[in-house]
Amino acid sequence: MKYIVLIKQVPDIKNVPKEAWDWEKGTLKRGLLDNVCNELDKQALAFALKMRDIHDGKIVSLTMGPPFAADVLRYALSEGADIGVLLTDRKLGGADTAATAYPLAQAIRRIQDEMFEGDNEYVIVSGMQSIDGDTAQVPPQIAEELGIAHIAYATSFKFDNGNLQAKRITRRGLETIATLRYPCLVTVTQWTQLRYPSFSRTRWAYSQELYRWGVDDIRAEESRIGLTGSRTNVVRVFSPKEFGQKACVFENDLVKLMKMIKETYESKLRAIEEEEEKPKYHLPESKSTTYKGEIWVYAEQEGGEVNPALFELLGKAAELSGQLNEKVSAVLVGKDVKGLAGELIAYGADKVYIAQHDLLESFLPSHYTIAVAELVEKYKPQMMLFGATPLGRELAPRVAYRTSSGLTADCTGLDIVDLKRGDQELTAVLMQTRPALGGNVMASIITQNSMVQMSTARPGVMRSLEPDYARTGEIIEYTPNITKSDLGTSIISSEIYPPASDIKDAAAIVCGGGGCKTKEGFEKYVPPLAESLGKFLGQEAMVGASRMAVESGFIDRSRQIGQTGQTVKPRVYIAIGVSGAVQHLIGMQNSDIVLAINKDPNARIFKVADYGIVGDLEKVVPELIKVLNSEGSWM
Ligand SMILES: Cc1cc2nc3c(=O)[nH]c(=O)nc-3n(C[C@H](O)[C@H](O)[C@H](O)COP(=O)(O)OP(=O)(O)OC[C@H]3O[C@@H](n4cnc5c(N)ncnc54)[C@H](O)[C@@H]3O)c2cc1C
Repeated sequence: MKYIVLIKQVPDIKNVPKEAWDWEKGTLKRGLLDNVCNELDKQALAFALKMRDIHDGKIVSLTMGPPFAADVLRYALSEGADIGVLLTDRKLGGADTAATAYPLAQAIRRIQDEMFEGDNEYVIVSGMQSIDGDTAQVPPQIAEELGIAHIAYATSFKFDNGNLQAKRITRRGLETIATLRYPCLVTVTQWTQLRYPSFSRTRWAYSQELYRWGVDDIRAEESRIGLTGSRTNVVRVFSPKEFGQKACVFENDLVKLMKMIKETYESKLRAIEEEEEKPKYHLPESKSTTYKGEIWVYAEQEGGEVNPALFELLGKAAELSGQLNEKVSAVLVGKDVKGLAGELIAYGADKVYIAQHDLLESFLPSHYTIAVAELVEKYKPQMMLFGATPLGRELAPRVAYRTSSGLTADCTGLDIVDLKRGDQELTAVLMQTRPALGGNVMASIITQNSMVQMSTARPGVMRSLEPDYARTGEIIEYTPNITKSDLGTSIISSEIYPPASDIKDAAAIVCGGGGCKTKEGFEKYVPPLAESLGKFLGQEAMVGASRMAVESGFIDRSRQIGQTGQTVKPRVYIAIGVSGAVQHLIGMQNSDIVLAINKDPNARIFKVADYGIVGDLEKVVPELIKVLNSEGSWM
């Protein structure tokens, strides 16, 4: 077996020096940030090294970037990689994910031909996403370009009679996937068995020649690289504060803090009542839109159950359709899923396209990509929205790549605008706004040189409509052209965790994280705080947990909040010892009032918190319980 590890140099966004902020523009001066190796790529390298312990073979590390990105290849060599390949050329600059995936795939083709002598028995391993762009789009788009299988969110692996099997995280639980042929691509998350290089190996790494390839060396078509080959374009970068990021108030006087929380709660209620509609885009009669066609929403379902994030997308699509005078259509893919169409219509779809096939019973990205891409090519919508869910983040990049469409990941804002770009007038195009550089900046992006404007949208930030089961709509059935031979992987087993409906509707939640350290620690602090909070509010407060707390065995998985757990919207959310990883925030960011307790003043959770206490939870929580128990009811 042989291995190619994709590794990326990224700015160190965890340590942003003060001078790197441009306070006037509200943006980051990227040149003033240190460069480091992307953390998940380090995990990917360690994953590949572990694979090699079992199945010996050459490891080639590959990166694309400026000449100084050679540093990450030296790191890979010192860890155990055998060869380093640096893809570097000015012409590659300014690339979006599609224009990055293509040259990397070309480099992989050359590695196969020359370094592996044409042998295709190899595994490509990379981190799930890079911390700067955070799109998770490049690996699936490389897989699409190479026509190979992709196993996303892998957490462990084994070889069964020489065949690779990987365990992966899904929204509903865990799956074990087997590869049916090589090469295949595995993206890694949460692999903690990192290695440390020896001094002599590091010296060896720095004495090695790296392969330096330019655009001509990989025979890349110039129309598909750099800015020219990019299908998305950043229009504006701005400070998240402009976008309504919470300004956390830090207060260590707990009595004062609880009084402030009460006042905020009441003023928030008044603000919701007084909220005014934002002015909406209006398409002038004299103009026609740059992109034409319906507004599509991918209707994510697994096991015949739709992902609730879909209803928010339908709500957004209905809002946009009013501005563009276009129909909203949902795209439903699976086996025997027609029964779900009525619900999609009730939530705002005017039409439902249904691609059904026996081979679509479970989600396998290669088959689902073909089904959706065939519909897109046949009916040509002007835009298509997917949920930024684990499934959406695997599927949308492949569909976008296959249909030559631009894709913007993890949007928190979608608006219609008219724009002038150079000598081009763009009418009623989709402005897609998303956090970048770890949430330190916001970027507004438009699609260019594309058939369809595609976005994945973050769950929990858009509003769904009230369902109207009296609505009627059109149903269009379609049989996609897929065969068993299109399959690169098969599902060996899946473990589905039951959802917990009680926590989803809780009015108040105390969520414990990895900071509780042990099951005993969790039980000592989280349930008692929930009980006191409940008495204080005069209604039940429930116990929730981060994925770290769940995976560490502190509490049952049904309590997990986040991207792969529950989405909650309580009136009061107290996070104790929770770092605020983006996958966690997705599940709780719509909480009315958030209080975070964390000993790290730079913890990300404070960015979505209204109130914060910087301190050791073992000290703060007992004091807070005392205050809550003594202040009596406040509502
Ligand atoms: C595909 C995928 C899906 C995921 N889905 C989810 C999901 O649904 N939900 C989810 O939560 N995560 C999810 N994750 C994991 C997520 O990336 C983080 O790893 C996880 O949220 C971290 O949990 P944590 O913040 O509780 O723990 P840690 O990362 O361990 O952070 C602990 C925090 O506690 C603080 N702390 C430590 N000791 C103390 C103390 N004594 N007093 C006060 N503070 C203290 C630390 O400063 C730190 O901020 C997912 C990841 C992937 C890749």
